[in-house]
Amino acid sequence: MGNSADVIVLGLGAMGSAACYQLAKRGASVIGIDQFSPPHMSGSTHGDTRLTRQAIGEGEAYTPLALRSYQLWDEIEKQSGQQLLTITGGVIIAEPQGFSQAHGNVDFMSNTLRSAQKYGIAHERLTNADIQARYPQFKVKGHEVGYFEYNAGFLRPERCVEAQLELAKRDGADIHTDEKVLSFTQHTDGVTVATDKGEYHAQKLIISAGSWLSELLEPQYEGLFKVYRQVLYWFDIADNYLSFAPENFPVFIWDFGTGNDEAMYGFPAIDGAQGGLKVAREEYQVTTTPESVERTVSDAETDVMFERCIEPHLIGVKRECLKATTCLYTVTPDSGFVIDVHPQHKDVIIASPCSGHGFKHSAAIGEALAQMATGGKSSIDMSAFSLGRFRR
Ligand SMILES: Cc1cc2nc3c(=O)[nH]c(=O)nc-3n(C[C@H](O)[C@H](O)[C@H](O)COP(=O)(O)OP(=O)(O)OC[C@H]3O[C@@H](n4cnc5c(N)ncnc54)[C@H](O)[C@@H]3O)c2cc1C
Repeated sequence: MGNSADVIVLGLGAMGSAACYQLAKRGASVIGIDQFSPPHMSGSTHGDTRLTRQAIGEGEAYTPLALRSYQLWDEIEKQSGQQLLTITGGVIIAEPQGFSQAHGNVDFMSNTLRSAQKYGIAHERLTNADIQARYPQFKVKGHEVGYFEYNAGFLRPERCVEAQLELAKRDGADIHTDEKVLSFTQHTDGVTVATDKGEYHAQKLIISAGSWLSELLEPQYEGLFKVYRQVLYWFDIADNYLSFAPENFPVFIWDFGTGNDEAMYGFPAIDGAQGGLKVAREEYQVTTTPESVERTVSDAETDVMFERCIEPHLIGVKRECLKATTCLYTVTPDSGFVIDVHPQHKDVIIASPCSGHGFKHSAAIGEALAQMATGGKSSIDMSAFSLGRFRR
């Protein structure tokens, strides 16, 4: 392959690893480049687990991506021999007449229900009594409403990246790690990419650079991709670890108010009694950059998390935080994805599917990116993710 290929994939996290796998599977020659050695802990794709669900409250355009991703996770699991997806069922708890917020969407619960009905996704509406009876670990107050989705669960993000990069290599992809892309140039036909180690040419370039995207685009796009520091916490479980084990406890999203900081989400305890219960809430107060972000989590932050989220809402979880890590959201003005051809560079595809909810869709996004880079059109409609919507 040398220094030229059909497609260069810049950034090998959730989206780039999926694109490399899908391109190589189709027989395209592909060079994948990452400044680190994915999976790593500096971007958006680490922290053991990512929540997945099928009826997508963030908007109707997402559900086909989620459903296709379930099929692809199954295929990748079979090919790699790795378990990537664990189905636990998923619960959404919300205020009865409040507008539940998630990723900029102010009617998350109703949208989720609409999507479940439209696509025939197995689900149940839960009364408060149902929630209490099934999951006494939740400290519901008596007025909340619930939604249960049977096939929701969690994915293992690091394993997904690793598995797809390995399969891509097996199918001939040339994967370059610890190599930073400095710039790209669009020619009449094709693109040149310059890195700190060399120069590469391809017919198409996919930029899946996560929180580093703004560094690679023209200044006018900078305000469209804001980076926010997020924190993931693993709290110790009091004495009944099994009540939080994956066979007894679901993934969950709980909106207990209308503000962005009045919600939390969490996962079962996946690493036995020692691993703790992983929970997080979303933070949108201050923007940051991958270079300047504070990576240390303070004791004051873990105290606030315990007092605002854990203590009022979960029974059987201790104040002791076993570990905490930071992670980056890259958020667009409407919290939707951008997956589109660069307006000024016809052979460059921009893929920014984060805004805090991209991982579950990443397998299908990789497929769509591969289709766009090789055939021109994806089989799933991606028009909702156009960059042009912000110009309008
Ligand atoms: C705390 C947190 C919780 C989340 N929870 C969920 C969830 O439960 N469910 C869900 O569906 N989604 C969730 N998400 C969102 C999801 O994880 C992201 O959408 C997804 O990981 C984004 O992947 P990416 O490939 O765009 O970015 P990344 O995985 O960060 O990959 C970008 C890659 O590009 C590389 N790169 C950048 N610039 C260069 C350069 N110049 N040269 C070479 N390489 C470069 C980086 O090194 C990096 O490896 C969460 C995100 C966070 C941060």
